[in-house]
Amino acid sequence: MDDGPHPLPAEFDRLRAPSSAYAPRQVVTYLCTREHVISVPFAAEAEVPEVWDCRCGQPATRVAAADAS
Ligand SMILES: [Zn+2]
Repeated sequence: MDDGPHPLPAEFDRLRAPSSAYAPRQVVTYLCTREHVISVPFAAEAEVPEVWDCRCGQPATRVAAADAS
């Protein structure tokens, strides 16, 4: 009996998907004008913006990250 191609269970796809735990990441720290510190995780290959919108609505500027390399 040929059951033909059928969709894989969603669970299978989830297991195969690259987990964020394994994805290379960088955490970028921003400091807003009200001295809020924000840590934003980005994918390692993501282009990191110099300015981030803080939760208080002020622009937060990127803080030089401690370079692990
Ligand atoms: Zn803020």
